[in-house]
Amino acid sequence: MSEFERIREHIYVMHAEDGTDRPLLAAVAGRSRTLLIDGGNSSAHARAFREYLEREGVRKPDMMVLTHHHWDHSFGLAEWSLPTIAQRKTADILRGFAGLEWNEATLDRLIAEGQMSERTRSDMLAEYEGDLSRIRVEEPNIVFERFIDVDLGGLTCEIRYVGGDHASDSCVVFVKEEGTLFLGDALAPSVYGGPMAYTTGKFLALLDTVFAYGADVLVESHSRPATREAFYHDVRRYEQLARQVLRHGRDRSAIERDLRAELEIGDSEPLPQDLEEAIGYFMNGLAK
Ligand SMILES: [Zn+2]
Repeated sequence: MSEFERIREHIYVMHAEDGTDRPLLAAVAGRSRTLLIDGGNSSAHARAFREYLEREGVRKPDMMVLTHHHWDHSFGLAEWSLPTIAQRKTADILRGFAGLEWNEATLDRLIAEGQMSERTRSDMLAEYEGDLSRIRVEEPNIVFERFIDVDLGGLTCEIRYVGGDHASDSCVVFVKEEGTLFLGDALAPSVYGGPMAYTTGKFLALLDTVFAYGADVLVESHSRPATREAFYHDVRRYEQLARQVLRHGRDRSAIERDLRAELEIGDSEPLPQDLEEAIGYFMNGLAK
């Protein structure tokens, strides 16, 4: 069941859906322009959001920005036929995808090359109801390198390339007047080309960038939007973990011991599952 919400005065979202890996989509509506953040994973996904925006009487989208190239964020692009802003690497990768014939053999190759995963295959097959030939990929047509600002009329969106473990082309979008930062999947671990991994350097550098915005609301593509307090509370634990990994390297038991002490988790209590998994991702990052 799709869920929609006006999360700020000028920001409308379609929440993420786990079933077929649909990320959150957003529309930022200024006085003179509406900017979409991410295109969706399919035409059906894009249409569902467009119909919601129409019902709400939101100004029709004028342009789109992609947070990164991953299929779940970009394969709905063709449905919108809008000027689309993307980082150069995002544009390069999607140009490559646009020239492909989409079928199981293509997926096999992309998975073998570490550009997609088995999880991608099952999500894609579910989203496209088993018919991969329905996939249409278009390339973005406004390309930037480090940052680009978009004026929507009374609202400024600052788009900035940040990279990171998840995708080397990740960007964030800060809606300045609304104090809202869209993170895409930038803070997530790598998901393709081997086991999921975090590297301390990239992760901590990204956190510094994110904290520097001082945003009131932070939006990650596959979770619910969070207040600054909730987000910081959650992400600080990962920051502490990353610092323990820096200190102890592959000594997992030392990492766990010191992290427990910092977070005041007793030896008999289990570590929260997300942290337990994250330790594994950092270990994978060290093994790379
Ligand atoms: Zn992604």
